[in-house]
Amino acid sequence: MQLYTKIMIALILGVVLGLVANLLSLGWLADSLVAIRQFGEAWIDLITMVVIPLVVASLIVGTASLGDITKVGRIGGKTMVYYLGTTAVAVVIGLVLSNIMIRDAGMSEETLAGLRGTYMAEGQSRVDMAQQAPGLVEVLRGIIPRNPIEAMSNFDMLPILFFSVFFGASLSVLGATKREPVLNFFEGVNGAATVMIQWIMKLAPYAVFALIGAVVAQFGADVLGSLLVYGSTVVLGLLLHLILTYSAALRFLARLNPITFLRKVRAVQLVAFSTSSSNATLPLTIETTEKEIGVSREISSFVLPLGATINMDGTALYQAVATMFIAQVLVGDLTLATQFGIVLTATLASIGAAGVPSAGIIILIVVLQGALPPNVDAAAGIALILGVDRILDMCRTSLNVTGDMTAAAVIARSEGERIEPPGAMPPAA
Ligand code: ASP
Repeated sequence: MQLYTKIMIALILGVVLGLVANLLSLGWLADSLVAIRQFGEAWIDLITMVVIPLVVASLIVGTASLGDITKVGRIGGKTMVYYLGTTAVAVVIGLVLSNIMIRDAGMSEETLAGLRGTYMAEGQSRVDMAQQAPGLVEVLRGIIPRNPIEAMSNFDMLPILFFSVFFGASLSVLGATKREPVLNFFEGVNGAATVMIQWIMKLAPYAVFALIGAVVAQFGADVLGSLLVYGSTVVLGLLLHLILTYSAALRFLARLNPITFLRKVRAVQLVAFSTSSSNATLPLTIETTEKEIGVSREISSFVLPLGATINMDGTALYQAVATMFIAQVLVGDLTLATQFGIVLTATLASIGAAGVPSAGIIILIVVLQGALPPNVDAAAGIALILGVDRILDMCRTSLNVTGDMTAAAVIARSEGERIEPPGAMPPAA
């Protein structure tokens, strides 16, 4: 049985059991599901453990084999333009849909008061976290690590990427006697990391089951009900971005069949969905893009870790819809100028969101503060949507990683690659 099928079965099983526990108020079942969640969390740690060695080694090998530093600059420039462009499109889709679907927030005073009562304290704690989060200028300034080892131990992706590319580029200009042993070493690290991923992925279906059951059991149908319009606007937006933007990019820029592409990346989407983390999914994202899609190591080792860190189309789209929804409930319609501001802030803010669970809702506060009048309390807004955030986080993370893989294919094609999985039959003459 394929990995995708196993993960899908685990997912469905987890959802069904979670729903049963929630709807029938079976405390013992809910408690058991929450208890086995530990296994899922441990699995996330296991796969996250591979991220730093994998990213550092594959980026050093990738950059060193590009050979030419101007190529690094060119690929970097194209990737940034593509990432920012598609993110802005995602925000626009979110705004257009919100204008159509969220005309009236559809919440009774009672529901509002209930949500505020339940989530206000947590909303406030997100606001406090946002105040400690670095702003865009600090993020940019922090790209150069004073101590690369410290950056690795803190999981600071951008400084790690900067150091590895710089190191790989420098390595490429050394003579073969000095370059080869170092390169061989990192190729070995990369190979071992790949084997680790293959082993860890064998446990993925069990982990997915453990992760999903608890979420459904905890945040069952009742919160979903009251936030139906908001939640479905986000999900519809994510689907539209996938179907319109990514399919067009795959078809016209990467010249690949979007349906075949999406079929090959299904397992990655499910793992992203279950872990809510682009970072934890990154090892699988890299492996699938190279082995199944056929993008070269040079491109994937650069485009994908960068994407997991800064390219969050799903997050940006969700931030646009959430801002429009919160505004609708608390202050009413937003002007066109304010909405234009959301395109800018949500695009830039999503760069600052880390690829970890719930990063998006913390960064959302930046967008909210830009869009709402100063007298409106951001914590009150966050309190409204916190109940369904975990589920939407799963959906947006799936889109985030799909965006990264699509970008890798587009950039590879623009560099003249053939994009064929290793071992694929050459086209008949
Ligand atoms: N969880 C998302 C990710 O890792 C970020 C977010 O919270 O939107 O891609």
